[in-house]
Amino acid sequence: MDLALISMPWAIFNRPSIQLGCLKAYLGQELQTCRVTCFYPFLDIAAAIGFDNYRLIAETPWAAEALYCGLLFPKMQKAAGTVFSRTLKRIVTTDYPRLLEILRLQHDQWLEQQDFSQCSLIGFSVCFSQLPASLYAARDIRKKWPGIPIVFGGSTCTPAMGRSLLKIFPEIDFIITGEGERALKELVLHCTSQEPLSCPEIISHHEKTGNIQAAGCGEIVNLDDLPLPDYSDYFQHIRQKNLGFFPVLPVEFSRGCWWNKCTFCNLNLQWHGYRFKHCQQMTAEINELAQKYQCLDFTFTDNALPVKESTLFFEAMAGDSRDIRFFAEIRTLKSRSVYTRYCKGGLNSVQIGIEALSDSLLGRMCKGTTVMDNVAAMKFSQEAGMTLDGNLILEFPGSTAAEVEQTLAALDKVFPFHPLSAAAFFLGHGSPVSCSPEKYGITTITQHPTNKKLYPPEILANLDMLIKSYRGDRTLQTRLWQPVRKKIAVWQEFHARRKNPSVPALSFRDGGSFLLIRQELPDLPTLHHRLKGLSRKIYLACEEPITKKELLEIFTQVTKEQLNTFLAGLEQKNIIFCSGDSCLALAIQSP
Ligand code: SF4
Repeated sequence: MDLALISMPWAIFNRPSIQLGCLKAYLGQELQTCRVTCFYPFLDIAAAIGFDNYRLIAETPWAAEALYCGLLFPKMQKAAGTVFSRTLKRIVTTDYPRLLEILRLQHDQWLEQQDFSQCSLIGFSVCFSQLPASLYAARDIRKKWPGIPIVFGGSTCTPAMGRSLLKIFPEIDFIITGEGERALKELVLHCTSQEPLSCPEIISHHEKTGNIQAAGCGEIVNLDDLPLPDYSDYFQHIRQKNLGFFPVLPVEFSRGCWWNKCTFCNLNLQWHGYRFKHCQQMTAEINELAQKYQCLDFTFTDNALPVKESTLFFEAMAGDSRDIRFFAEIRTLKSRSVYTRYCKGGLNSVQIGIEALSDSLLGRMCKGTTVMDNVAAMKFSQEAGMTLDGNLILEFPGSTAAEVEQTLAALDKVFPFHPLSAAAFFLGHGSPVSCSPEKYGITTITQHPTNKKLYPPEILANLDMLIKSYRGDRTLQTRLWQPVRKKIAVWQEFHARRKNPSVPALSFRDGGSFLLIRQELPDLPTLHHRLKGLSRKIYLACEEPITKKELLEIFTQVTKEQLNTFLAGLEQKNIIFCSGDSCLALAIQSP
């Protein structure tokens, strides 16, 4: 039996799909007679429009969706074109109408080259902005090979979204709403041997009544049992088309999130619990993948790395002589030494879930972190040599003027570190905020206005989209957060214009009995501060967060008032951060 699995634009072009790689490997292991071929049409699109253009579009989800929505719904082209130009802030060397033409041509050529006639099932992995492109391809595949069932799965296919997709788009026969492996195996057996469906993660049209039925395959209990992802089709495509880049290989340490409490988050809708691989398994996978595909760059697809096993893993990788590098999304780590150990193990690029610089806001977001944790994370990751990306969520419903003030004050302190990105709050379907909107002052949940420009009204009215809009205090929030938005822009510009980014913007050199602190500031000459004797010792004692009580226990010759006056002076200069009773020196030792 043949099975085709497809990943459409706007998946990141220099990575194979982990979803497809995992499913191919699993089915190959479980169903020996099943031949799975994975298709990556996004590679041809990237080559056709240019890798830089592709990357820019893929990084701008609304612009990305606007392209295939324009093809899928021709009457929406004008409105979708405005979404494309408004959201894609950076320059793409081709305009919207020309891009549509290229996409259409590429799509037709790709379809012309395929022969799906022997397939028992065709599957689309639909994540992030892949929905319109997948719908566009499914429609044409159905026209050309009408008898072959089509299944959609992936993070976009939540139960509610899946049900609405099935109702509206007749070319979709099945939706897999959760983890793919076992459900897809059952579906393949159903399509080839008519075995009954019992898996609750598969939803389909009931043949007689037209009702949608949901029937439990359950999830893989032990992720160590999963085979190595199979990326061979992706590499074959790259070789055939002679595409000149080194891919980054996606790997997964865990599924779900061990924290799973953040009130804005809907990233874990498809998982029913946190599971992780053990360090030995992860290390073996990395070794095998590096060897098999001759790649040295890996990206963890995890929402939150498993704390104990990943620490063991990076310690093991630190002893590896190869130049293997990792990217991962992590929660703030509590200790300075862990950042160093992770970085020595190859984790040189991280996205840290900072989200806010106000303690009460972090509390309402249920992040389980404090502003001090966040400031320390920014300092320690930079000190360890990691590249840090992170977001500051603006306009979170119910934010107060005092929270915005606390954020602005904290921004002065984190100015020397790699800037965060401003991310306006969006209401994600299934997030705790969307499930209890009244708690956040949300009176009505509505369709997102941008979706109204991308999807025809009669379709959108029946689609349970993942991104929603709402009525509540939006106007007030936009106004409140304006100064933060401006300050982040200044912060970003300052770092973009720095002449020597390898030198920290705030650094110190230790002279044994004195410290020289160097501080770069925007539009001002560089400042120099000298801390002598006891002042030096106290500053160095604050290299990790420490309470004033602990400082007084170490420096018994100092009174509480003297300590407070000293720290207040350093705070005013923005070279120390104090929050509640804790302090953290902000300067990083000069490399
Ligand atoms: S935002 Fe990250 S840490 Fe928070 S629940 Fe979602 S995945 Fe977990």
